[in-house]
Amino acid sequence: MVAQNAQLVTAVPGPGSQALQERRLRAVSHAVGTGLPVFIDEASGGILRDVDGNQLIDFASGIAVTSVGNSDPRVVARVQEQVARFTHTCFMVTAYEPYVEVCELLNELTPGTHEKRSALFNSGAEAVENAVKIARYATGRQAVVAFDHAYHGRTNLTMALTAKSMPYKSGFAPFAGEIYRAPMAYPYRWPTGAAACADEAFDAFVSQVHTQVGEQNTAAVILEPIQGEGGFIVSAPGFMARVAQWCTDNGIVFIADEIQTGFCRTGNWFASEFEGVVPDLITTGKAIAGGLPLAGVTGRADLMDAVHPGGLGGTYGGNPVACAAALGAIETMRVDDLTDRAARLGELLTSRLQALAERYEVIGDIRGRGLMQAVEIVSDPVAKTPDPAVTAAVNAACHRAGLLTLTCGSYGNVFRFLPSLVISEELLDQGIGIFEKALAEALAR
Ligand code: PMP
Repeated sequence: MVAQNAQLVTAVPGPGSQALQERRLRAVSHAVGTGLPVFIDEASGGILRDVDGNQLIDFASGIAVTSVGNSDPRVVARVQEQVARFTHTCFMVTAYEPYVEVCELLNELTPGTHEKRSALFNSGAEAVENAVKIARYATGRQAVVAFDHAYHGRTNLTMALTAKSMPYKSGFAPFAGEIYRAPMAYPYRWPTGAAACADEAFDAFVSQVHTQVGEQNTAAVILEPIQGEGGFIVSAPGFMARVAQWCTDNGIVFIADEIQTGFCRTGNWFASEFEGVVPDLITTGKAIAGGLPLAGVTGRADLMDAVHPGGLGGTYGGNPVACAAALGAIETMRVDDLTDRAARLGELLTSRLQALAERYEVIGDIRGRGLMQAVEIVSDPVAKTPDPAVTAAVNAACHRAGLLTLTCGSYGNVFRFLPSLVISEELLDQGIGIFEKALAEALAR
């Protein structure tokens, strides 16, 4: 376990990381980017220690993955036990209990008490692909509707669902067909104001699907309850519930993509719960297995069982070691009541960000839930002009000061806060202090 204190002993990145970076550039495709090219040696809780001995405060959690902290003791113990027992059989060849147990937990923990089934995959994108396959098969329809600012992955089908061109789609066409896009209920940027956002966005969505796609042709609508890569956009209150109900009324499968929002991050097990929505299908990934690659599709038994046997699967999906890790991570979430902790630390984060917004008018919006929060940086608070340059400068200043942070958003002007849910209050506070200084420094230039 790494001591839970921040410390810098060299510049960031230090000489050890720089040497590895040179080696990496000769060996690794330059198409794979890295936000901060430090090389990590060990990590736990809210701290990443790099090869130079710097201890960075982690506000990224490997993009919302290590919610229980890196190398959570229960994850480590379960993985060690499983890896020594057997590493792989392929669930499609011979079965094993941890796969079944993870599916039982997914069926229990996801919204709704109806009869459910789950299937396991390797990555979020693969889970989304499979949710779409299931919806198409079960409805006999082809069209899928996604929203502006959506992010669902980088495979061919999920690139088509993802909204942002650069860096995710540019140059990679042609994309999968029968994908349509509707306006997102984005309160901060809704042209007639936040109050009208849910109603007007819902009306536009219904009208567009009706006129451009046809309800009878629509297999599924897919929505992130809080859009992740698109800018931590919390859809206007009521929007998600109305979309879900409209899907039910029209025989369309409503898919909630909770790959980033799921598993306690927002202060609930799943963010759909804030809107009282019970999705037909729900995709999960990221935090589910404490850092090991695992993802799932969970939903109505009639949909999940509609596909012919052998229609879903993959060599590694639901690998036993990844399943063991998930059982450890979920145990920690339950025993340590991480929904409650995310909500409590989230309140602290919100109040600190609100205080900052009063002092800095470049903070145009603060949004999110629990420990999935972000600020939108604008150069003009009235025109709401996105300021990606200041956002990047703040991010770089945070990195230099030993705080690992991430940006996001369609306009590159959203600064996001995604610490581990087990981060100490002291480190959270210290990290916010670094952000505040970085903001002041970037604005003084
Ligand atoms: N959906 C959402 C909402 C995501 O945030 C992500 C990853 N950022 C994905 C899908 C894709 O997951 P993966 O990178 O594991 O394929």
